[in-house]
Amino acid sequence: MINKTLCKFAWAGATSTMINTFRPCCRFPLDENNQYPTTDDVLVQGESAFNNSFLTKLRQDMLAGIKRVECTKCYVEENSNIVSMRQKGLQHFSAKAIDKNFERLEFLEISLDNLCNLECRMCNSQFSTKLKNRDMILARNGLTQYQPKSVQYKTLEIMDSLDLNDLKLIKLLGGEPLISPNLITFLNKIPHPENVEILIITNATTIPPSFILQKLRMFKSVKFDFSIDGIFQFNDYQRVGSNFEKSISNALQLAQYFPNTHSVHSVFSSINIIGLDASVNWLEKHLPFSISIDIVSNNITSPFYAPDWYKEIILEQIPLSNSFHLFVKNLFADKHRYDEEKWYQFLKFCKITDNMYATDISKINPYIAKAIQDVNVS
Ligand code: SF4
Ligand code: SF4
Repeated sequence: MINKTLCKFAWAGATSTMINTFRPCCRFPLDENNQYPTTDDVLVQGESAFNNSFLTKLRQDMLAGIKRVECTKCYVEENSNIVSMRQKGLQHFSAKAIDKNFERLEFLEISLDNLCNLECRMCNSQFSTKLKNRDMILARNGLTQYQPKSVQYKTLEIMDSLDLNDLKLIKLLGGEPLISPNLITFLNKIPHPENVEILIITNATTIPPSFILQKLRMFKSVKFDFSIDGIFQFNDYQRVGSNFEKSISNALQLAQYFPNTHSVHSVFSSINIIGLDASVNWLEKHLPFSISIDIVSNNITSPFYAPDWYKEIILEQIPLSNSFHLFVKNLFADKHRYDEEKWYQFLKFCKITDNMYATDISKINPYIAKAIQDVNVS
């Protein structure tokens, strides 16, 4: 019987987003201790780079039934009656997962580049070219973690150093992949598109041109995960530059071109989490898509850094009837640690970005609006 820690992503998956390293899946944190194989390792060694000491130890731990902290979110999902990414991987991949060695690349999650047309508040310029100016202003105002970044992506080169013949699933991200000039070159590099399911994470702001749609039709299946962060004002405030109604209309159109079980993925920060219940209810009622959610955990917009009074308000507003009640409750139980400094930086962030974009947070979140009243920005 397969134990409850074994995950086939560790034997068959590789995720490379903007930081020029490879992880088994997107849930692994950034590489603060320089443990993951780098892009350069992969360019030189190909897939054998996935047998470095960190990933080998990970597989050994999984085989031994040892729980890994990086996998907490999957364990929380499983304890909250949500099918976890780990469980989906067990069904999807044919890797045997019997010893410490990487087996074969069945799953690749990759960012084409960071070209994007939005300036989402919980994002930064590593992911979106549009956020360079905002990050420069934030850094100048003392939020130094927002230094504008220029990232060199080597996605197309990487594709030439990997054996792509066993690929079953690609998860494609950007920036916004549907506007990337690299998209068609990337798709042309897949040797057996008829065997590959492709999952595209898109902000649903655009419909790609017909030559891209034609190319996508050569794949076994095409699935979209539409990044829409709640309904109406909650989405539009957080995802600066987007329009909820237009995104929904584009999503429905893309779903007509490619019939499949598409999904909406909503990310909730301290800003829009107050709309989580209303958003989930609306999305579940009105769309023919599955709905998933996530809560920002890796930057100052995370509600896990909020003071207890705000945590209580958040949890009170998500009733038992909400599909994600247990998930949110368990995540807060696991991750919430009030951080005074980060919370203050977040409030400052809200004030600066409201000034920058001529927006008004009181229109979507009266609690944060009140909290920023006493925050001074020059
Ligand atoms: S258990 Fe979850 S977090 Fe861990 S490698 Fe698998 S999918 Fe990723
Ligand atoms: S659409 Fe994605 S990459 Fe672009 S700004 Fe938003 S979160 Fe960042």
